Amino acid sequence: MSATRIAPLAEEVAMLEQAGADWIHVDVMDGRFVPNLTFGTKVIETLRRCTTLPLDVHMMVVEPERYFDDFVAAGATGLTIHAEVAPHLQRQLARIRELGCAAGVALNPSTSLSAVEEVIGDIDLLLVMSVNPGFGGQQFIPSSLDKVARARRMLDGARARAVLEVDGGINRETIGDVWHAGADTFVAGHAVFSAPDPRAEVAALRARCAHLA
Ligand code: ZN
Repeated sequence: MSATRIAPLAEEVAMLEQAGADWIHVDVMDGRFVPNLTFGTKVIETLRRCTTLPLDVHMMVVEPERYFDDFVAAGATGLTIHAEVAPHLQRQLARIRELGCAAGVALNPSTSLSAVEEVIGDIDLLLVMSVNPGFGGQQFIPSSLDKVARARRMLDGARARAVLEVDGGINRETIGDVWHAGADTFVAGHAVFSAPDPRAEVAALRARCAHLA
């Protein structure tokens, strides 16, 4: 579940905890890889003081390695970098793990799964973007379903244990199909934050997956 607004952060974290979120997904944007500019070390530190939930940091930034040490020191549990801006992906992932953090790779909708194939054993999380990153509240791109299914087969085929996460347009209408396609972790920002009752919303999202189990 995603924390997409800064204030009042502690209240929103408390709301997500009460709603039963498993993780806090933190979108970091640098104004370069994506046009928006949000969230840095200070926010991760603040979140860490508010919660013991894992902080799943999605780095929509160029040269992500410049921030690894600071984000880990601030309390990140996992760092996910974009394959599109990581020419030395294997080395960057190894560095994240060296710092004691879960290492993730994110792929934009137009990026092939082959971008991550050679490092599949080096990742703890594969993030399939089901919208083009940069803004909340976008519509789920339907072709993402097939990509998630192929990602599932790739991970299973390699006996990789990485989490398969999907980010973008996840709501009651889309989550069931995405779960069915093989994802096990979902980022729901807009759906949860715009819901009149976030707790009921998280339960409803969870039920859409359990229903298909
Ligand atoms: Zn994200």
